Amino acid sequence: MSTHTVSCKACLAYGEKDVRVEQRELEYQDEDVLVKVDRGGICGSDIHYYQHGRAGMSVLKHPMVIGHEFVGVVSRAPAGSNLRVGQRVAVNPSRPCNHCEFCLEGKQNLCSTMRFMGSAQFNPHVNGGFSEYVTATVEQCIPYDDRAEAKVMAFAEPLAVAIHAVNSAGTLVGNKVLVIGAGPIGCLILAAALSAGASEAVACDVSDRCLTLAQHMGATATFNPMNEGSAGSYQQNRGYFDVVFEASGSPAAIKSTVALTRPAGTVVQVGMGAASVEYPVMPMLVKEIRWVGSFRFINEFDTAVKWLQDGRINPLPLLSGEYQPEAIESALIAAADKTLSSKVQIKF
Ligand SMILES: [Zn+2]
Ligand SMILES: [Zn+2]
Repeated sequence: MSTHTVSCKACLAYGEKDVRVEQRELEYQDEDVLVKVDRGGICGSDIHYYQHGRAGMSVLKHPMVIGHEFVGVVSRAPAGSNLRVGQRVAVNPSRPCNHCEFCLEGKQNLCSTMRFMGSAQFNPHVNGGFSEYVTATVEQCIPYDDRAEAKVMAFAEPLAVAIHAVNSAGTLVGNKVLVIGAGPIGCLILAAALSAGASEAVACDVSDRCLTLAQHMGATATFNPMNEGSAGSYQQNRGYFDVVFEASGSPAAIKSTVALTRPAGTVVQVGMGAASVEYPVMPMLVKEIRWVGSFRFINEFDTAVKWLQDGRINPLPLLSGEYQPEAIESALIAAADKTLSSKVQIKF
């Protein structure tokens, strides 16, 4: 076994408002896959590392390569693997331990020692994908058809989050579904819910721009809760929706889910944001509403790759900008501006 190195350009978060592009030496072993990164999407956590030096409970303790939504081309594959040099792959940023009790139950997303790329959850942090080259395991590399566009395939990770949320709800066939928060994740949930058989998929957002995007992603109706009375008809008869996906994380939105969900309905919490909220417990329990948390994804990553490659979901209405790695700071600032941007990608 021997160690090799490759010199490559990467985008590192150093701390609050401090992101740098550096040339660094990347080490890899014989058993690693070396992937030449094509492009990657900026996610909320990348923005948080830049803005606050932390994302939720994950605090930057040393510089870290950001990015966890990326695709590339196999540059070197271990002997005996089914990957070939030149193969296009979407890289699953999850590296679960595969032997803790959660992994053994098939819930790898809940792994106690998950090594998630571009995450400062554990120390040392796991470097992410905004780098000319990354190393990955064979299992992390999901091949896709050469004919699929990289800018489409770079949505695999957020779409996996969306499909996991849809799976968390149970069957959606014939269901009336509401998605609160029409950012990239909310819009992808909407498209995935329709793909999974929902009969109606309504989007709710405080931004009319986002609601227009939701329409492009297939929303059957939209409403802006800032407009007085806009949610009224959906609250009648003890609530209209079989399933509500809360993808905004806003306290007011979380609170509103109970009135919008019909008795025996389900609320799936995907939006991160408020650490704690005031919550209408009584209406929730007398309506027997199920409130389910949904975090990251498991094998939904493979499904997401397939759906994108086959054109079953077109995420491109959500792509609002493309930057060079040298412009990472401008890209992060643009991505954080929700009046202008949805998904911003870095093209290596
Ligand atoms: Zn993401
Ligand atoms: Zn585990």
